[in-house]
Formats: sequence, structure tokens, C-alpha cells
Amino acid sequence: MEKTKSNDLFERRNKVVSNGVGIFVKTTAKSAKGAIITDLDNNEYIDLGGGIGVLNAGHCPKEVVEAIKAQADKLIHTCFHVSAYDGYVELCEKLVEILPHGDRTKVMLTNTGAESVENAIKIARQATKRPAVICFSDGFHGRSLMGMSLTSKVTYKTDCGPFAPEVYRMEYPNFYKNGDDLSEDEFSIQEMARLEEFVKNYVDVNSVAAIILELVQGEGGFNIAPKKYIKLLRKFCDKYGVMLIFDEVQTGFCRTARWGAYQHYDVVPDISTWAKSMGSGMPIGCVIGKADVMDAVTPGTIGGTYLGNPVCCAAALATIKLMKDQKLNERAAKIGEIFVSKFKTFSELTPFIGDVRALGAMVAIEFVTDTQSKNPNADFCDKFVAKCLEKNVILLRAGNSKNIVRILSPIVITDIEIDKALQIMEDSLKEIIKG
Ligand code: PMP
Repeated sequence: MEKTKSNDLFERRNKVVSNGVGIFVKTTAKSAKGAIITDLDNNEYIDLGGGIGVLNAGHCPKEVVEAIKAQADKLIHTCFHVSAYDGYVELCEKLVEILPHGDRTKVMLTNTGAESVENAIKIARQATKRPAVICFSDGFHGRSLMGMSLTSKVTYKTDCGPFAPEVYRMEYPNFYKNGDDLSEDEFSIQEMARLEEFVKNYVDVNSVAAIILELVQGEGGFNIAPKKYIKLLRKFCDKYGVMLIFDEVQTGFCRTARWGAYQHYDVVPDISTWAKSMGSGMPIGCVIGKADVMDAVTPGTIGGTYLGNPVCCAAALATIKLMKDQKLNERAAKIGEIFVSKFKTFSELTPFIGDVRALGAMVAIEFVTDTQSKNPNADFCDKFVAKCLEKNVILLRAGNSKNIVRILSPIVITDIEIDKALQIMEDSLKEIIKG
């Protein structure tokens, strides 16, 4: 192996870091700014993965770095349960303003996406006094016990059981895969009929506390739930007194050209979960919900030592301000259009692209063996991602079969960087086809 600082780091890593801590992309980082990562050997990469959707506001944005430093000088920790501080409350006020859940909205802060999901389920159970949760195929909700139990893909949880009980899984309404000759509305009605059947055959609806889903599945491959389905799901939940939970951990904070993906749907959830881009890389997330739901919880049953840490709150407040000031929702819509229109031209180069889809700047290319069968083509996807990495573009894969490339670039990425990345992607595609 070539003697480089990056290779050295991986050698040291292999000796002391558990193999269970996966390597999704084999790169290193010394520093990063905007959409560019500089590795230990001073190679520059265009980052189209954003640390898995965490860096919508970019790597190390000046305003956020300054806010972190200033807060660290003043107050690092008290535990909010012990001594309350302004940043926690101000952040909740801000979140209520940009992500309202009906007339009155309340928030709890967390450290991570998985923790947001854990707490959302605890809140739903307490609010309904029911045990069961319905989740979906291809869903991802984190690596904690409940998160893992709700997560679909089995290789994320090999030998990790027993899993949490009272978790029931439905087929996700994947219109591209299963829509056949139906219109999207017809498909939605069909899928809702299946849910009504489901609660007759698999779980009594009167014992269901919540239905949790991602409006655009992140790890599952950017499958976008049909609008009509979500409207009908809201009605279903209202009819049976079930809490509707949207997991917005990956879709949140400008990714889909809105603060939250639910704002595309004209549907308000009872509870929602957030993290990732909320703090520009500082560990912070939250659960947001209708006030009466969020208050139907016994004091002391949710919370924790570090939740809503002052430094993380400062980072989140500065991130949200930056997103507003730089109009990142508008920019995300534009970025989405640029990627989609170029990716559609890629479909003319190869028969192995089954679908190009997007909601805002959440863009995916699905590789298939042929467009008729739509069978996953992980091999082609692997080659494409590897070739792009050779040319210094970081891409992340998604989907149960890892046959989907997903774009989660910083939204502050420049037009020049996008053009360069797209040219590299096109060149890589052509080289693989030729090879
Ligand atoms: N929910 C969704 C939709 C996610 O995409 C993720 C992370 N990929 C999580 C939950 C878990 O978040 P975390 O890794 O911060 O625990």
C-alpha cells in the first residue's frame, strides 16, 4: 500500500477501532470548508454526502464556528434539568416558529436522530396509553434499540436482537417500484386499503400508539411518499386516535427546499423527529409536537444529562439564522433542479439508470439491471461511486441493495463546484460504460 498519511491513519484505525464501526467511504479529513474536504495528504474532495446529510449549511460556516467559540467561553454545561439557560429556550422558540405543528407547538431537545426517535415513541405511547408502533419497509430510524427495531434493513442489525416488541412493519408506498400501471392517486388509495387490512390481520388498531415514517426515505434510497397517501394516512390516524410521526432527521433543515419535508404535503404530524443538519455537525436534535401531545408526558420520563447542551444550542441557533439569511430553501430548490436535469441526460448514456428522483436538493439516481424488471444493479453503482471517488468526488450510496446514489451535498455548494462534480460524474459514467 502506498505510504500516505491517509493510509497510515487507516492502519492505526484498524488496530484500535472496532471493525463494527463501518467504513462507508474510505477517505480522511484534515479540514473542511463549504463543500470541500481536505484530506490528510492535502487532496481536495467535493463533498456530495455532507457527512450523511448533516452539513446543509456547509462545513465549518464562519457564523456557526464563532457562535460555538463564544458560547464555550461563557457556559458549556449545567444540565437543563438543573439550571435552565437562555439558549435552550430560544432554540425551542425558533423551532416552534419555523416548524409549527398546529396551533400550539412544543419541543424537547436531544443529542441525535436515534434519540429523537426513541423519545418520540415514548411520547406517543404516553399520550395514547397504547403500546404498538407501525413502521415501514426500507425505513431507517437509528441504531438504538427502538431505532434499530423500527429500521427495516436486516444488515443494520445482524445478531443484535432481541428487538423491541410491539413493532409492526408495512410495505412502504414505493410508487416507482410498485406503482405498476396505476396513477399515483390510485396507488395511494390501494396502499391505504392495505393498511386497513393490516390492522385487521396483524395488529389491533386500538393498541397502535403511532405510525412512524420518513416522507423521503433516506437510507432506503430517497423513496418519496405520494402526497395523496400522506393525506389519507393523516385521516386514518385521526379516525383511530393514532399519533402520526414523521422522521425528518435526514429531510430536515432546507434539504428538501423547506424547513421540513412535511411542509410540501399540507399535512401536519402529531410528532416529528429532527437532528443532522440542525447543528452543522454539533450533536443536537429534537422532538417537535402538538403541545397537548408533548405535555401528555410524566415529568422525568424524557430528558437526559446532555440534551440541548448550551454549545450545541448556540450552533443550532447560528445554523438556522444562516439558513434564513442565505435563503438556503430557495437555493436547495435550484440545486435540485441542476442535479436532476443533468442526471436525466445520464439516463441517455446508459440503460442502467431506472429512475432519477428528487424533493428539493434530496436527489437520487437508482441503478437497475434493466428498466423493465427494475432489479437493483449494485455492481454498476459501486463502480460509479468508486470511479467518482478516484476523481475526488465523495458520493454516498443508499437503498436496501446499495444500488442508489444519493446527493446530500452542502446547500452552500457553489455553481462552479456543482459543475465540476457533475462533469466528473459524467466522465466516470462514460469510462465505466466504455470499460
Ligand atoms: N432517522 C433517520 C431518517 C436517519 O436518516 C437517521 C440517520 N441516518 C437517523 C434517524 C438516526 O440518526 P443518528 O445517526 O443521529 O442517531
